[in-house]
Amino acid sequence: MNVTHLECASCHKNYEAGKLHNLCAECGKPLLVRYDLERAAQTLTKESLKNRQSNLWRYAEVLPVENESNIVSFGEGFTPLLKAEKLAATLSVKSNLFIKDESTNPTQSFKARGMSAAVSMAKELGVKRVAAPSAGNAAGALAAYASRAGMETFLFMPKDTPRANIVECEQTGANVTLIDGLITDCGKIVAECKDAEGWFDVSTLKEPYRVEGKKTMGYELAEQFDYQLPDVILYPTGGGTGLIGMWKAFDEMQQLGWIDAKRPRMVSVQSIGCAPIVKAFHEGDMFAAEFPNAQTVASGLRVPKAIGDFLILDALHKSGGTAVAVTDEELINAVKEIGAAEGLFCAPEGAACLPALRKMIEQNLVKENETVVIFNTGAGIKYLEAFS
Ligand SMILES: *Cc1c(COP(=O)(O)O)cnc(C)c1O
Ligand SMILES: [Zn+2]
Repeated sequence: MNVTHLECASCHKNYEAGKLHNLCAECGKPLLVRYDLERAAQTLTKESLKNRQSNLWRYAEVLPVENESNIVSFGEGFTPLLKAEKLAATLSVKSNLFIKDESTNPTQSFKARGMSAAVSMAKELGVKRVAAPSAGNAAGALAAYASRAGMETFLFMPKDTPRANIVECEQTGANVTLIDGLITDCGKIVAECKDAEGWFDVSTLKEPYRVEGKKTMGYELAEQFDYQLPDVILYPTGGGTGLIGMWKAFDEMQQLGWIDAKRPRMVSVQSIGCAPIVKAFHEGDMFAAEFPNAQTVASGLRVPKAIGDFLILDALHKSGGTAVAVTDEELINAVKEIGAAEGLFCAPEGAACLPALRKMIEQNLVKENETVVIFNTGAGIKYLEAFS
């Protein structure tokens, strides 16, 4: 409703709103949605939010859908921010530790946020058939939202994707193809077939609206912390959509006059078996090379090459944050530790944030009494194979 245009995140070429777009036609990088934030601020106020629906569409003025009737929703977003006092007590530096629990989203992961926005926009722009490669949870969310919108869905997943993800897609009406390869191989198939098949490609960041859905995590954190953002955010990073989205949300909120220029230190958490962002960050690179032989039970982190790599790395650098890799053993053990302490059955990706935080504390990267948020991005129950 307040969208002015789309802008390439790399070469800054502008694109018209209200049309289907994938990557920048000039340079092949992701497009970001730009809003008239002055206009948005006329109705979107801290006060007005108090009476709105408890899902991400409460931020409608800074979301891309033009006509409300096109919104495809299961009530995603506005997830709990849980204080984790018992876990905090196990850390060698006293901190105010919180878990943003995204497992309560529809289809049990934060992928619902992105897909609600992407499918709503696809509906608004007349799309009938959608396709995506997925490491698991994105497929589950796309299948659900697309079926609800009356679209046909074509999904490509590695054959060792958690079984729960495969079954949920089949049961919610999607066409599922399992591939002997990684998410990047699945992405190539979508790219090759989409024109002939008439599919709209909803791959992470090759589609401009998933990041808009996921940025609402940043708006929610601001609201839940009464507009004092935390000092540190640990985010399990695959394609990086959520981290890029939150970083964008912080800038928007500053323009809306809600927050100042201070930013949380953004931290990408990955598995040692697939850590392209961690490697690039510590080598001081602006882009991340494809990670060879990517392997981890945290399937959402098994993204050897992210098209938004430069945006992730930029946010880590500008925020004074870092990137941390943990082993699969550490992240699996952390699932039980968090579960036993706080009663939350985390996805392995989310659990990875705890050993990563401990490593940061060892390196004096977290100070006494700082406020730290770790993101539990999904539900452990979908990864039963990982616990056998
Ligand atoms: C997709 C996924 C991630 C990675 O999210 P990005 O925003 O793509 O980096 C992390 N955790 C879970 C559970 C996921 O499904
Ligand atoms: Zn460009």
